[in-house]
Amino acid sequence: MSVEVEKVSKLYGSQRALDKVSFNINAGQVVGLLGPNGAGKSTMMKIISCYIPESEGSVKVCGYSTVTQSLDVRRNVGYLPEHNPLYPDMYVREYLRFVGGIYMNAGEAAKRTEEMIEITGLTPESKKKIGALSKGYRQRVGLAQAMIHNPAVLILDEPTSGLDPNQLAEIRNLIRNIGKEKTVILSTHIMQEVEAICNRVIIINKGKIVADDDTGMLRHKVKPSHEILVEFDKQIDSAVLKALPHVTSVKHSGGNKWMVSCSGDDDIRKDIFNLAVSKNITVLSMQKEESRLEDIFQQLTQS
Ligand code: ADP
Ligand code: MG
Repeated sequence: MSVEVEKVSKLYGSQRALDKVSFNINAGQVVGLLGPNGAGKSTMMKIISCYIPESEGSVKVCGYSTVTQSLDVRRNVGYLPEHNPLYPDMYVREYLRFVGGIYMNAGEAAKRTEEMIEITGLTPESKKKIGALSKGYRQRVGLAQAMIHNPAVLILDEPTSGLDPNQLAEIRNLIRNIGKEKTVILSTHIMQEVEAICNRVIIINKGKIVADDDTGMLRHKVKPSHEILVEFDKQIDSAVLKALPHVTSVKHSGGNKWMVSCSGDDDIRKDIFNLAVSKNITVLSMQKEESRLEDIFQQLTQS
């Protein structure tokens, strides 16, 4: 077991930022820690990385206790903090050798630095000062420093926040590749990110776990529903759509397009088609959309 979290609570003064959180993560999993701002994600990650102690409960990383064996834990954990603090005046290579030097001798650190530059795609920017890099490349430096000592477990706190769409895709790919060899826990408040990178998702809200499942299985946790986007060749009275069985709402989505929301799994596309035929209206297109994970996230974290 790579990470064992048992009944962990964290109190900041009287505020309970984490409330009896438990989960286990096997080697090789890529787990998304998902939750709205203030849910307790960063707090959980800091505890696993030995940056702050838990108030109650216990955490083990690769079998080592974060409290009594913190040096062993640190050797096995790579941590990319939320705001990725770097030294802007240091050169990329210089900085990575410096961080590597904390864990190994200078020769090894220099060797690992070159490997990390290669793995994280930093080669074209490796001669620059960190302060001169774009946000995407700074994140790569952050990932490189987190992995320099080849830890078994990587903790990445909102690794893609603030990136543009191209950088986002590149960093996600990079994390997916890293995830083939390591246990990765990443936090995000973006559902699609979890779908794109993680095979398991732990949703936390107000310091408590509200869901913990395979990314694919999560869909089954909530009331089934689906939406059908339909386009007709001419106007239709939305009341007749609304009157179809299982339809819960009908929304206009421009032109002669309608978004029809339905409860349950029953496919009502046939009903819509027959309705159109009976009114002498042609269906130009019809598309069924499964309930999205985004909605599931909202359902689970509302209150
Ligand atoms: P997330 O990363 O999910 O946005 P955090 O773990 O950063 O959430 O914060 C969880 C809660 O704990 C928030 O209400 C936050 O204000 C509070 N908190 C975090 N760090 C501290 C701190 N050092 N002192 C007091 N309260 C804190
Ligand atoms: Mg946070």
